[in-house]
Amino acid sequence: MLSLSHGLTGAFIATKIPNPFVAIPLILASHYIEDWILHWDVGTGLSNGSRKKRDAILLELVDMALTIIAVIALFQVGKTGIQWSAYWGMFVGLLPDFVEAPRNFFKYNPWWLKPFNDFHGAFHHSTPNMLLGLAPQFVVIGLIVVFH
Ligand SMILES: [Zn+2]
Repeated sequence: MLSLSHGLTGAFIATKIPNPFVAIPLILASHYIEDWILHWDVGTGLSNGSRKKRDAILLELVDMALTIIAVIALFQVGKTGIQWSAYWGMFVGLLPDFVEAPRNFFKYNPWWLKPFNDFHGAFHHSTPNMLLGLAPQFVVIGLIVVFH
C-alpha cells in the first residue's frame, strides 16, 4: 500500500498501544496484511517495467511528504510535547518498504535482505487499476481519521 496508509496505521497503533513490545509486532503485521489486500501504490508497475523508476521515486517523495504531513496533522497538532510514539510508529509501519527500497530502485538485494524481501513479496497483491487499488486505502485512512 501507499506509505500514507502504512505510516498512518503504524502511528495509529503506536499511539493506541504504548507498549512497544506489543505495538511493534502488531505494526509489522499490519504492513503485511495491508499489502495482502489488493492495492495500488507508487511501486505498482515497477517490476514489469510499466512504471519508470524515476516516476516511482518522484511519486514516493510525494507519498512520503503526505505521510509526514498527515501524521503531524492527526497525531501532533493540538498536543503538547513531541508525540514520539506517532513518529516511531510511522517508521515501523514503513520499515518493510524501506528494507525493499534498495532492491526496487538499485537492484540491490543481498542475501541478508532477500529473506525479508521474499517474505514481503509473498504477501503483496497489487493492481494497475488505480481506483480499485486506492478504495481499500481510503477505507483504512478514513477509519484512522475517525478513531485516532
Ligand atoms: Zn509493503
